[in-house]
Amino acid sequence: MKHISIGKLRIVYTEHSDGNMRDLDKREKVLKTFRFDNVLIPIQKHTTNILSAEEYNREEADGLYTNKKNMPLGVLTADCMPIVLTDSKTLVVIHAGWKGLFEGILEKGVDLFERKDNVFCFIGPSAKDCCYYVQEDFLENAKKYGIELNKRYLKKDEKGFKFSLQEVAKGKLKDRGVNHIIDFSKCTICNINFYSYRRGNINERILTFAWLEV
Ligand SMILES: [Zn+2]
Repeated sequence: MKHISIGKLRIVYTEHSDGNMRDLDKREKVLKTFRFDNVLIPIQKHTTNILSAEEYNREEADGLYTNKKNMPLGVLTADCMPIVLTDSKTLVVIHAGWKGLFEGILEKGVDLFERKDNVFCFIGPSAKDCCYYVQEDFLENAKKYGIELNKRYLKKDEKGFKFSLQEVAKGKLKDRGVNHIIDFSKCTICNINFYSYRRGNINERILTFAWLEV
């Protein structure tokens, strides 16, 4: 696992060596390292729902938010993007695959903040455009969602079209006034430190969780 500390924000993401984070024993072991007994993870269904962590009651959601300190929120992923947003007062943790991204989960996350220029964003380990090949129907679908298929999002090589979910995310964030963005550089598909759905890890997941220190 890796631990990132930026001001009051703490982010942890697990790696292959930490095991499958759907396994509660393995998850507990990671949490104990940071003296937490639990982490709140939503029932992820590729929706655009972002719900209050305090009121959360196992509804389908792909994001949670809190204003509480020392309250870890997490998402499980294998190629989808784990995304953390904060202004040091409110914390939002999001799971975004192409569907949630195209349908606007990031915009919903940013809208939870009054002042967007104070918002910091972390995009965690996910499938990147070195490996994320897509078919023509994916591109047709993207167009329907108003995603411009320019060079920033789309590359072509002898094997086909490669798409950048992270660049689309960054474009959406910047359009809403969020400029402080860290895009984690490693791709889950070509980096064996992570689980990857596309590489065959159908059931295994890494966990990304974050909290705000007092
Ligand atoms: Zn890659």
